[in-house]
Amino acid sequence: MKLTSRTRRNFLKDAGRALLLPVIPALSANRAGAAEPTPIGWRNWSGGQSCNPENRLAPGSEEELAKAIADTSGTVRIVGAGHSFSPLVPTDDTIISLARMSGLIDSDSVTQQATFWAGTRMGDMGKPLQDIGQGMINMADIDRQILAGAISTSTHGTGVTLGSASSYVTGLSIMTAGGEVITCDREHNPEIFQAARVALGSLGVMTRIGTQNRESYRLKETIWSEEIESVLARDDELRNGNRHFEMFPMVHSDMAIVQTINFTNEATTDTEVADDEAGDELMRFLQDYGGVFPWLRRWLINWFVEQMEVSDMVGESYDILSNVRNTRFNEMEYEIPLEAGPECLREILRTIEKQNVDIAFPLEYRYVKGDDIWLSMFHGRDSCAISVHQFADIDYRPYFDLIEPIFWKYEGRPHWGKLHTLKADRLRNLYPRWQDFMEVRSALDSQRRFLNDHLHQVFGV
Ligand SMILES: Cc1cc2nc3c(=O)[nH]c(=O)nc-3n(C[C@H](O)[C@H](O)[C@H](O)COP(=O)(O)OP(=O)(O)OC[C@H]3O[C@@H](n4cnc5c(N)ncnc54)[C@H](O)[C@@H]3O)c2cc1C
Repeated sequence: MKLTSRTRRNFLKDAGRALLLPVIPALSANRAGAAEPTPIGWRNWSGGQSCNPENRLAPGSEEELAKAIADTSGTVRIVGAGHSFSPLVPTDDTIISLARMSGLIDSDSVTQQATFWAGTRMGDMGKPLQDIGQGMINMADIDRQILAGAISTSTHGTGVTLGSASSYVTGLSIMTAGGEVITCDREHNPEIFQAARVALGSLGVMTRIGTQNRESYRLKETIWSEEIESVLARDDELRNGNRHFEMFPMVHSDMAIVQTINFTNEATTDTEVADDEAGDELMRFLQDYGGVFPWLRRWLINWFVEQMEVSDMVGESYDILSNVRNTRFNEMEYEIPLEAGPECLREILRTIEKQNVDIAFPLEYRYVKGDDIWLSMFHGRDSCAISVHQFADIDYRPYFDLIEPIFWKYEGRPHWGKLHTLKADRLRNLYPRWQDFMEVRSALDSQRRFLNDHLHQVFGV
């Protein structure tokens, strides 16, 4: 079987990090101020986190938001698109969505900055920005997150010269539990700015967010397969010689799928991606039966990946940078110091092999520029981001429990939106400005209204 370029592309898109079915958490029909709230259960994208809150509210303005907070008691958690794997959102009390507070508010063509309502979906930012000649500097693997949700966890794409979404925030407005709206940037309330850009929804509700953009641009993506060791041997060249570089090392295999993305003036090609049932089915087959015939598994994966031809795609930046993920999964990711990336990856692959772990999902290997945000996983260091995934209907714990200590060995910081087992006693040692963050947090939310059980453990309060 010779793979078509579409099949190859989709194998990457689907098998690569596996995939997104836009399971957008349904908004409550109850709006702030409605008479009889009816409880509606909530679950995240992967289905791994759920709760039955007493209230689910979707205010349409800052006034309605203030009323929603004032009219409820107990814990308030803000939900974005529900795409975090970790239990950041669940509460029995109140969940508030800003889905009705979305869209572009204003922009500045000189500074190439724009202000959005915090509930704007990332996927709804590219086109309006392009219409005013601007483009986001980088994007995550998908664009289903809302802007506030993405920045709250340091959501990132790949590119050693490119920071996380939080690092491109120029200023923001945040509503406290008392209904006060505080605006902050590097000059005004700078301590709140440093805390709020990555705060896991623990300071209050962000309502408006300013972003630094650049002039709108086109990108060319190139995908090919190559031996993992060969990619690692020229890791420096690939990392520094391309605007974006990432690799999907296949487990139980010698091969990786590699992707680079760079500026181009070439004409746009077809950027639509069709379903890839063959890729999905092969990955699931290997997951279910690969352990029964390990020697065949290795041969099959190597052979399949080797068949891939180089494929290119050109399009607007926001079309090229984001993907569609159609298979549900759970994920753990750690950010480790950049120079430790190759060794950490090798150790993970060796461990999977040695322990004969039944896993078919490829790993994901990316680079992200360091920043100065207090709770950013990239605080003070350029980083290598390595992710492991498991199908959503399979218990991820045995696999993740085996791999997580390897990340610790390399001084990894867990992605806030992905699964990990660290608590405050260890997390505080990973963040030099931890205490500064805690002081801002308790000053803004002295009643601890924005903390759920998970955040009590994460922050140790
Ligand atoms: C298929 C898939 C692919 C992914 N790819 C990537 C990737 O490439 N890179 C990456 O880094 N991550 C990735 N993630 C993780 C995801 O980007 C993060 O977990 C992100 O935070 C989810 O955003 P969300 O809008 O769904 O927010 P949610 O998960 O709903 O919430 C995240 C946090 O934001 C807070 N929050 C939301 N709105 C507000 C507000 N208005 N004010 C204050 N706090 C608020 C919430 O309280 C919560 O703490 C991926 C996840 C999935 C499911």
